[in-house]
Amino acid sequence: MIGAHRFDPTILREYDVRGVVGKTLSPTDAEALGRAFGTCVRRNGGKRVTVGRDGRLSSPDMEAGVVAGLRAAGIDVLRVGGCPTPGLYFSVYELKADGGIMITGSHNPPDYNGFKMMIGTKPFFGADIQTLGPIAAEGSYAEGNGSVEDVDLFEAYVARLLKDYRPGKPLTVVWDCGNGATGPAVEALVARLPGTHKVLFPEVDGTFPNHHPDPTVPETLEILREAVAEAGADLGIAFDGDGDRIGVIDEKGRVLWGDQLVAIYATEILAEHPGATVIADVKASQVLYDRIAELGGKPLMWKTGHSLIKTKMAETGAPLAGEMSGHLFFKDRYYGFDDALYAAIRLLSLLARSDRPVSAMRDDLPEVMNTPEVRFPCSEERKFAVVAEVKAALAGQKGIQVNDVDGVRVTSADGWWLLRASNTQDVLVARCESKTEAGLERLKGQLRAALGGVGIAAPETF
Ligand SMILES: [Zn+2]
Repeated sequence: MIGAHRFDPTILREYDVRGVVGKTLSPTDAEALGRAFGTCVRRNGGKRVTVGRDGRLSSPDMEAGVVAGLRAAGIDVLRVGGCPTPGLYFSVYELKADGGIMITGSHNPPDYNGFKMMIGTKPFFGADIQTLGPIAAEGSYAEGNGSVEDVDLFEAYVARLLKDYRPGKPLTVVWDCGNGATGPAVEALVARLPGTHKVLFPEVDGTFPNHHPDPTVPETLEILREAVAEAGADLGIAFDGDGDRIGVIDEKGRVLWGDQLVAIYATEILAEHPGATVIADVKASQVLYDRIAELGGKPLMWKTGHSLIKTKMAETGAPLAGEMSGHLFFKDRYYGFDDALYAAIRLLSLLARSDRPVSAMRDDLPEVMNTPEVRFPCSEERKFAVVAEVKAALAGQKGIQVNDVDGVRVTSADGWWLLRASNTQDVLVARCESKTEAGLERLKGQLRAALGGVGIAAPETF
């Protein structure tokens, strides 16, 4: 049974636990994590925890460690087996468990692995994750001898996804699972959906032999783009490695980003829930916030990070939220967690009942010019201070509005620029958006100057 244990200090992160297997993360760490997390669940009055895993080669060993640790803390474990991360979230609701642990390295390279956790139906993150270190280091664990049981929820999960499908005209769809954890569920979905479906790389393979499963990186969508063109498909849908982020290609081969997808979903959701709050992260286009307001909704700009967005949704009762990165959250008919397979079902329902192609829905949004999300290195010690100093220097400047919900987002007549510190890496993140090329250049200049004013060289893109 695991005793006092020290984690590598880099693995306890803001939204999850993540490390490189054999270097910063081992099955022994998994056992200590299971026992420390189980201790938190016990202290919270809970007793039953679901455990799922993605298709990584190290996931079965990590799962064995986590299960042993949970049981040693007196937790009864419900093992749901291989599934996407949203399948594990679903299990917590479906089995009325007191928490859940997903063993997943998400979209990271094959040698990574980690854990995403829920306590009750809430994300377990931030300060909660930081408590795991001292509990393990002191060995101040709960004691017990919990049980373990295998529960097969595959059919229930697929049925729940399909329950909200609203049929219409048949569509031709290409899906790209990227050998991630979504493959089996996607194959089960397409077998029951109307239309013509082609599924790329549904075999779960932790070596990711075809391409890296991360739809925010446009190069990973190349094979899908070609397959959409070849099939003359209505759209292409891709998932990240653990299925909590979606990527979409329209029938013209263009990528739809997270904020564009939220705008499309918002049309339907705000018609059904007039005046509702819709949440997006600080990286999202102004075009989205304007569209939500035009549709009669309340736009709410919030911090980047899936755990933070889910927490804000619960607080505000927002039926829809989304991040640029492709995490999309529905709480009008669903649970409010980020489920890319569910987002796909909702998009297909919208398209099946519309006489317009997805490209036309995208082109309803005014065209703006923006930079990609530019990330540049800045030390752990310095990154938050840089943002605070830039904010202080902006105080009292005329003709600008500063939103400091997450970093600084500065809006002027030209558009907006954003500077924020990443919660998960030692980088600063910057982005600019304007309606005109000249405006974009002025915004870049302002951002460069703001960084220069606090002694930071702007990245080359700026
Ligand atoms: Zn993911």
